[in-house]
Amino acid sequence: MAGATGPLVFPPRMGYCSPAMTSTPRPAVSVVAPCYNEQDALPEFLRRVGAVLDGIGGSSEIVLVDDGSRDRTWDVMAEAAGRDPRIVAVRLMRNHGHQLALTAGLSVCRGERILIIDADLQDPPELLPDMMALIDQGADVVYGQRRQREGESLFKRATAAAFYRLIARLTDVQIPPDAGDFRLVTRRVLDVLLAMPERHRFIRGMVAWIGGRQVPLVYDRHARVAGESKYPIAKMVRFAADAITSFSVVPLMASMTIGWIMAALGFGFFIYSIVGWWGGHTLPGWTSLMAAVGLLGGMQFLMLGIIGAYLGRLYDQSKGRPLFMIRDIVGGQHGGPP
Ligand code: UDP
Ligand code: MG
Repeated sequence: MAGATGPLVFPPRMGYCSPAMTSTPRPAVSVVAPCYNEQDALPEFLRRVGAVLDGIGGSSEIVLVDDGSRDRTWDVMAEAAGRDPRIVAVRLMRNHGHQLALTAGLSVCRGERILIIDADLQDPPELLPDMMALIDQGADVVYGQRRQREGESLFKRATAAAFYRLIARLTDVQIPPDAGDFRLVTRRVLDVLLAMPERHRFIRGMVAWIGGRQVPLVYDRHARVAGESKYPIAKMVRFAADAITSFSVVPLMASMTIGWIMAALGFGFFIYSIVGWWGGHTLPGWTSLMAAVGLLGGMQFLMLGIIGAYLGRLYDQSKGRPLFMIRDIVGGQHGGPP
């Protein structure tokens, strides 16, 4: 069972490295997968990832993070970790969401190179050897770029495309379009990523921000092997809002621009009405009054909303709470008391 006495938190308060973890050499590759209700996908995932790692040879580990699943995901992964010493199963205290579950796995993994992949096999682990070759040639990050997305609705593809175009316009960071978190990164890049303390994490953007040599590898995205997408529309909207507010202040600036335009219009309207009154031909004016009230009211609420979105995230960050809490770690070098 877990090598720690209490829940493990990030950023580490008490440290979660047992002496065994720090003294043993790093595996050449870590595969890290967040899992939420993936009991049906996991066996096939482990079979395919295992086969790829066997093909590469050398030391490796597979870090699976159970993000507070409601199904038998934890049992499946803990049992696998008992069978295969390569597998490390991490259980979070509750559901923290994809990006934080991934962060938990990344903070536990120990490899020299780290493959980030979803457990649903939409992204083929068989690309790992090609990604390794590109890192051998000097890349710091090799990210999968989707050419085709099988088994995903037109709606999902259209919103994803619109989202990547929007974020490209809103920020100076070169966030590659049509790339998810599926990527191989070096330990150097991962250590920088883990040193970034932000709570609302948009990991693919944060990796892009780090820089270095980032190389795409084009591939076709498949349908899930089992289960259904854990990204319903509400989560997608939240994810997009986190991405935009973490990487761009353009919406805050936009509210300023809109504010100036509205103020100018309002002033023009004020002058117009005074002149009209002076000339003695004022109208009952209900329509224009209501139009102005409606327009200004709407704009003010919009701007307050934008300010609120940033303020809320600032508030969340200022609380300084841990990003995630680990309940158990089974397998790998992590077992046994520290
Ligand atoms: N996931 C997670 N916690 C969540 C939601 C999703 O750990 O709250 C995992 C999920 O098990 C999968 C990955 O994140 O391995 C991506 O989720 P999903 O495949 O549902 O997203 P999609 O591919 O539909 O965008
Ligand atoms: Mg998926």
